[in-house]
Amino acid sequence: MEMKIEPISLPGLDTKRPIVIAGPCSAETEEQVLETAKELASRGVKIFRAGIWKPRTKPGGFEGVGALGLQWLKRVKQETGMYVSTEVATKDHVFEALKAGIDILWIGARTAVNPFAVQEIADALKGVDIPILIKNPVNPDLELWIGAFERLYGAGIHRLGAIHRGFSSYDKKIYRNLPLWHIPIELRRRMPDLPIFCDPSHIGGKRELVAPLCQQAMDLSFDGLIVESHCNPDCAWSDASQQVTPDVLDYVLNLLVIRDVNQ
Ligand code: PEP
Ligand code: MN
Repeated sequence: MEMKIEPISLPGLDTKRPIVIAGPCSAETEEQVLETAKELASRGVKIFRAGIWKPRTKPGGFEGVGALGLQWLKRVKQETGMYVSTEVATKDHVFEALKAGIDILWIGARTAVNPFAVQEIADALKGVDIPILIKNPVNPDLELWIGAFERLYGAGIHRLGAIHRGFSSYDKKIYRNLPLWHIPIELRRRMPDLPIFCDPSHIGGKRELVAPLCQQAMDLSFDGLIVESHCNPDCAWSDASQQVTPDVLDYVLNLLVIRDVNQ
């Protein structure tokens, strides 16, 4: 399918590389969400992320606070002026998120593998003009990833972006999810106008890998970064080992060397 992807333009948003999205893996409490958001906003982050519906690998884990968290994200918007984003996995999530005025939605890696689920989300978004980011499917299947973009594009969503979060593997010695950089590189070749974000948190699975993965993504001319940041990472209810404080994130971002590889 021929797709003419439009930039993720939002009023006042600087789209200079890297576009940064940051926030906790999960919204846990109103206090944690607001404290993290305020710390990030004061360090110049313009787009906040927080998962409120969390698809977990096994039952029994924290599956998110649900729609209640939308009210907290609304407060983040009002009190910090940041744009807010969250993950959607069903049409009901989409309807609730749109009603709450969420600015950007993303489709998670466990949903991106399922064409029926992606189509359901696409159908729920018909006639809505909102940027949608799609994480790579957990398995390294570029065609399935591109198929998800086609489904959203077919529903009239033209502001699309990709999130590279690595691919599941039995071997988790270094990375939680293998980066297999050649796959997003091939995605860039196939869809040159599609902005690509790197999610170093889910690729690395550990704090100490966030900085080098961010730099690698910049060296590969990725457009943005989506990084998990929590005001108290050690106490996080999900993905504690990979979240960094807003302070550390700021430090990491300031160290990045951004070369314009197209010049
Ligand atoms: C997340 O962003 O917290 C998440 C669940 O990620 P993924 O879909 O990449 O596993
Ligand atoms: Mn997470």
